[in-house]
Amino acid sequence: MKSRGLAVESATSPLKTFEFDRRELGANDVALDVKFTGICHSDIHTARGEWGSVYYPLVPGHEIAGVVTSVGASVTKFKNGDLIGVGVFVDSCRNCENCSQGLQQYCLEGMTGTYNSLERKSGEQTRGGYSNNFVINEDYAVHIPKNLALEGVAPLLCAGITLYSPIKHFNVGPKTKVAVMGLGGLGHMGVKFAVAMGAEVTVLSHSAEKKSDALKMGAHHFVCTKDEGALSSLKKTFDIILNTVSAELDINEYLQTLKLDGTLVIIGLPGKPYAVHAGVMLEGRRSMTGSMIGGVSELQEMLNFCGDKNIVSDVEVIKADYANTAYDRTVASDVKYRFVIDASSF
Ligand code: NAP
Ligand code: ZN
Ligand code: ZN
Repeated sequence: MKSRGLAVESATSPLKTFEFDRRELGANDVALDVKFTGICHSDIHTARGEWGSVYYPLVPGHEIAGVVTSVGASVTKFKNGDLIGVGVFVDSCRNCENCSQGLQQYCLEGMTGTYNSLERKSGEQTRGGYSNNFVINEDYAVHIPKNLALEGVAPLLCAGITLYSPIKHFNVGPKTKVAVMGLGGLGHMGVKFAVAMGAEVTVLSHSAEKKSDALKMGAHHFVCTKDEGALSSLKKTFDIILNTVSAELDINEYLQTLKLDGTLVIIGLPGKPYAVHAGVMLEGRRSMTGSMIGGVSELQEMLNFCGDKNIVSDVEVIKADYANTAYDRTVASDVKYRFVIDASSF
């Protein structure tokens, strides 16, 4: 199948128009026309080689919302014309103890990424959603509720599930004091979901101008972390911190804002390690953990939840030729709150 999209050729080259072939439709595959595709900061980390080795040319994109155009002979889950979503992975081993529990993102053999992976059978390089079409095994795709604006749905496929999953796993609810670090693509979805669960939500942001947006999204408090003493005045405040920051920072200042038995969940993935002071951990029996996207059934659960509660991402829709500028603006924390590419412009 002929595809047209955007690719980078090296860690230092910009996104450029790229034409390539996708696999022909297998019996369990679904083909889709991509309508909107989100720009996740992980696309940028990967494209720029910040996380290690990359198969170039790389077609990024793992927040894909589209419409089914054809289905393989054995497909039962989708039919032509259905709205369909594709997230961060397109396959996994299906047999390990994690896959068996629907936690394909933690597959013991490693999930097959939507891009920058090799297909399990053919060994072909996977190519992502910055493209006009896509082919996926039906088991790894999800249905999109019809009542939501499709451009606002695309970011749910990564940013949305990545915050929904820890919010559910750590039982965020009406009595929980939650802090969201970083009001970007992931962070703003964290605010929306934590508010929807009834929690008391504080945004910890280094961008003072985002305050009014944070409050409009439902956050109860906004703290600009650049203000003198901002974090030290919050000592022992939060039950849970959702850290979505994409850059290096002093994690100890944030850990101190956790109450007794509080948990900081690492979600952002800067390329360098954090330096943690042992004293900060033990003085409050604090925990630090991580969370990575969510499995297929949880992805569907999250989309259904969004359909019920009318939750979508706040997006700036762009054409393909603006993608390089969008990368630079995202890195500069100048994103309100997710760039989404209109796939008709590829
Ligand atoms: P994003 O839209 O760029 O948001 C990141 C936010 O972090 C920025 O908007 C900014 O918020 C804050 N920030 C950036 N630089 C900072 C700095 N120097 N100091 C303090 N705060 C800073 O990125 P995203 O797409 O939400 O992704 C966030 C991170 O999560 C990335 O590292 C990404 O790779 C990772 N990620 C992880 C998963 C997972 O499964 N765990 C999934 C997807 C993405 P303020 O302006 O409000 O401070
Ligand atoms: Zn992502
Ligand atoms: Zn597995």
